Amino acid sequence: MDFLSQLFFVFIVREYNHNMKSEPKHIYLTIFPPGKTAITIHPYIFWSKKQKGWESASFIKHEMYHWNEQKEWKEDKIFGLSRWLAVYCAQWFWFNLIKHLPPDKHPMEASAYEAGRQK
Ligand SMILES: [Zn+2]
Repeated sequence: MDFLSQLFFVFIVREYNHNMKSEPKHIYLTIFPPGKTAITIHPYIFWSKKQKGWESASFIKHEMYHWNEQKEWKEDKIFGLSRWLAVYCAQWFWFNLIKHLPPDKHPMEASAYEAGRQK
């Protein structure tokens, strides 16, 4: 990543971090699930080195939405992150696997896609 891209990336991440007490830890992986660009599991955001989603503001906003939401669940609920992941997987199973709806129709993805589209 060149200097300007790095600056842009840091700027967008900070802009969409709701509470600056902590920042995401970014991990870049060569081997990644096919078709995926990024996976957020608080406090980490895993990025596919091939898809380079960190270069796109909408991808960064999308992942920061998940990151902020997971952080809120972690702080507000007992076993918050595990519960977030359990609800996410259950909804994925129902909406995407059983009902064959596109990824953005997953209830927790719909808001993240919306965040990604915002200016
Ligand atoms: Zn997502």
